[in-house]
Amino acid sequence: MSRRRSEHRFGSEHRKRATVQSAFFSCCAKRGNTEKNRDRRDYRDHRDRGDRNSYRKQAFSRDLRLIPAFGLVLALSLLLFSLIRDRSLPGARKGGGSAAVRAELLAKQYDYDGALAVLQAEPGFSESSSMRRLAERIQREKESCVPYPPDQVPHIFFHTLIVDTDLAFDGDSKQDGYNQVMTTIPECRSILEELYQRGYVLVSLHDLCEPAQDGTVRLKELLLPEGKTPIVLSQDDVSYYHYMEGDGFARKLFVNSDGKVKNLYLDAKGQTLTGDYDLVPLLDSFVEKHPDFSYHGHKGILALTGYEGVLGYRTDEVYLTREQDRVTAYQQQFFDTHPDFDWQKELEEASQTASAMRENGWEFASHTWGHINPERAGLEGLRRDTQRWKTYVAPIVGETDVMIFAFGADIGGYMPYTHDNELFNELKSQGFSIFCGVDASVPYWVQVGSDFFRQARRNLDGYRMYYNPELVSDLFDARSVFDKSRPLPVPEM
Ligand SMILES: [Zn+2]
Repeated sequence: MSRRRSEHRFGSEHRKRATVQSAFFSCCAKRGNTEKNRDRRDYRDHRDRGDRNSYRKQAFSRDLRLIPAFGLVLALSLLLFSLIRDRSLPGARKGGGSAAVRAELLAKQYDYDGALAVLQAEPGFSESSSMRRLAERIQREKESCVPYPPDQVPHIFFHTLIVDTDLAFDGDSKQDGYNQVMTTIPECRSILEELYQRGYVLVSLHDLCEPAQDGTVRLKELLLPEGKTPIVLSQDDVSYYHYMEGDGFARKLFVNSDGKVKNLYLDAKGQTLTGDYDLVPLLDSFVEKHPDFSYHGHKGILALTGYEGVLGYRTDEVYLTREQDRVTAYQQQFFDTHPDFDWQKELEEASQTASAMRENGWEFASHTWGHINPERAGLEGLRRDTQRWKTYVAPIVGETDVMIFAFGADIGGYMPYTHDNELFNELKSQGFSIFCGVDASVPYWVQVGSDFFRQARRNLDGYRMYYNPELVSDLFDARSVFDKSRPLPVPEM
């Protein structure tokens, strides 16, 4: 394994001097031409300081009235009557549950207009006093919301989560990298729980800004109940790269028979298990239990490369063409051990999975096809790479206007992008308007131009929790979250 350092631009130049480093594994055997350079395994970036934020847990106050016994009986009868009638109304149960149930869920996720629209679309709405009361309550909740500045929103990210720490920390050459840049499942669960308890609410980048057809970008108004703090969540490299096999990570995401997205996982004994073995299903389950953790049902955004496919599916063209000088040792081993591999089928399953995820509040960003640093790759390299992402990734996950740079790299310093920047012009011409680098030194870093939105991300991994617990104290208590099974010290970068 070799490790490389790279200076990250915006962390270092504005406030606080901050060295942002990146480390990635380079454990692929065959290399030697430019094609091979893409097969460096991943990873990324970071560093620095931060503090901030007070939160107030807020609870809605609801009217509780003393009702005389007679009134109570009458109210119950009316409720029963309206329930029976609601059930018999045409379309009332579509979308799983009565209109009232669906409206309640939408309102819990701060989509008050959506909730009111569901109720008002019901044929029996004006005659149903229970529905009208519900609508009034939702209207009051809506009116009590306050705007949150979209340029003060933090953004956190994870890599693929470690399921089995014995396998990940088994002393091989990849152990140190995992220890630095990965997060374990128990850590992730505790972090989500604590974020939720502290009043954080997951929002999409597209809740903060709106890129228009003509390339301009405007900020959006974000309304939340007082005391709630919006936060963006991303996850990088959800490809389940070949090199991770046998190291205690999930193998892929797939849609199960209930239509839910779950992971396939092979445990240490070789048993195939399905369940919540990475962030996507884990968070889906969490939001099912706590719908108010998600704004309008939005969950997170996955930053995907393409060189070994996406979401655990080997969908890149090289798995089809098997071009001699492009096939890596890992890929050759994959072909040797999967003689029945069917590229078309792989593509279909990946597409089904991605579309189920989109429906369920997930979005996708480019992490560049080859996990490249655009400034190192240069204009031609970036153009070729973007073309590949658009040809072999976008058809599966959909077009995106979000670029989440690999290595915490960027295409410029902390000053706003200008049109003198040819890398920026190139990415703009390819439809990108939202750009994310890494800077964990501050709770949030957002820069808004007339045609771009930039937001820095904070890594929540072994390195950060071990060396800078104070930098995440606004989000969670790193000392209680930190997984005791990590080998110590977490190696320095
Ligand atoms: Zn990455």
